[in-house]
Amino acid sequence: MRAVVTGAAGFIGSHLCEHLLSRGDEVTGVDAMTRYYAPGRKRQNLTSLLGRDGFTFLRQDLLTAPLEPLLDGADAVYHLAGQPGVRGSWGPEFAVYVERNVLVTQRLLEAARATALPRLVYASSSSVYGNAETYPTRETARPQPVSPYGVTKLAAEHLCETYRTAFGVDAVSLRLFSVYGPRQRPDMAFSRLVTAALAGRTFTLYGDGGQSRDFTYVADVVTAMREAALSPWSGVANVGGGSEVTMNQVIGLLRVLGAPVRVVRAPTQRGDARRTAADIAVARGAFGFRPTTGVRDGLAAMVAAARSARPLSAA
Ligand code: NAD
Repeated sequence: MRAVVTGAAGFIGSHLCEHLLSRGDEVTGVDAMTRYYAPGRKRQNLTSLLGRDGFTFLRQDLLTAPLEPLLDGADAVYHLAGQPGVRGSWGPEFAVYVERNVLVTQRLLEAARATALPRLVYASSSSVYGNAETYPTRETARPQPVSPYGVTKLAAEHLCETYRTAFGVDAVSLRLFSVYGPRQRPDMAFSRLVTAALAGRTFTLYGDGGQSRDFTYVADVVTAMREAALSPWSGVANVGGGSEVTMNQVIGLLRVLGAPVRVVRAPTQRGDARRTAADIAVARGAFGFRPTTGVRDGLAAMVAAARSARPLSAA
């Protein structure tokens, strides 16, 4: 397959590029290297990819770059570029979320339509559910995001569905649930926990620690994305790790793994859902999705990777 990966220098995007190359796909990775977190980390995410046979990297902003030449001849586009994070999406920053999550997706869909792109896989988010109506949550539950970020992810997902029904753009939206693993974004809880534990620093826990997430290991996510691209199925599907774990349980697990962390408590943040849990029956039926890595093993892999990581050379 000839694949285009947007957000290729990011956490999930860089793992996806590695996975696609390992399966023999040809990959063009695109990334604007935004400053949501240190671009030095993104350069580091790319180190195992640059120079590899079958991989091309383009530093481009999808908000302004010509997209038809990029998509021309591609078999699939995996659209992961975006502005992540729920907490920073309030206030004036919302404009950036609209640009990077909504406008960029609409531009890509227009280009997909113009080039008759065979397949688009969009990285949507469990944040579209907010505090969900039911658990484990099915795709038919009414989305009710509790953050502006979730609103933009839902808007982009709706755009995929609109272009699919109006113009036959073959789009799949995967609602990813709290993805973790080596190279996780530095603002995410697991990353902050592991960094604090290894550096002997304190970890700020928002809320009482009883909030839970359906944590999903990154290798399971990228496998699901490729399987979704290869299948003939279209629509919206949850991609969750299959088990719901509280933050208090994660902190306990770290202790068991020999990386205890000292916790400082802070009030719950606006935009954080209390609980997420995915019903993954749709993804299982549509493209055989079966998560294989549980939280204990995934967290152990993260700790091991952080222990052996080179220090970041540039911010
Ligand atoms: P990330 O920030 O590490 O990766 C996103 C990448 O997109 C960054 O490298 C950034 O530079 C790039 N980007 C942003 N705007 C761009 C633009 N206009 N043009 C080109 N590149 C641009 O984030 P991540 O955690 O890897 O998430 C990837 C995608 O998955 C995002 O769309 C996110 O909303 C979605 N998602 C992530 C999670 C998670 O748990 N990490 C959960 C659900 C959904």
